[in-house]
Amino acid sequence: MAEYIKKSIAIAIISNSADLYPFEKNQAIHRIEVSPAADVVQVVRGRWIPEHHKDKVSQTEYHSYIWYHCSECGRRLIGCRNPQEAPYCHCGAKMDLMEDV
Ligand SMILES: [Zn+2]
Repeated sequence: MAEYIKKSIAIAIISNSADLYPFEKNQAIHRIEVSPAADVVQVVRGRWIPEHHKDKVSQTEYHSYIWYHCSECGRRLIGCRNPQEAPYCHCGAKMDLMEDV
């Protein structure tokens, strides 16, 4: 997978390098400034957060179940019993499964 760095961070690293002469820094900074940039979208990460429910179905019986909701938009995961079947939320967040606590 490709890795990206902001031009401003690369320039700051070069600017703060103690082992470069000023003309070397200026040359390197200029090369970074004129280099083409990629359009990169930051990945929003979220988690499926478990909600534990327990409904009383009779005097002695309970029905326990877990629903999951998105940590970013709050949407409940509907139609999937296993949150690992939904690697992305509808809001676009890339999901990691939060451990049960
Ligand atoms: Zn969401």
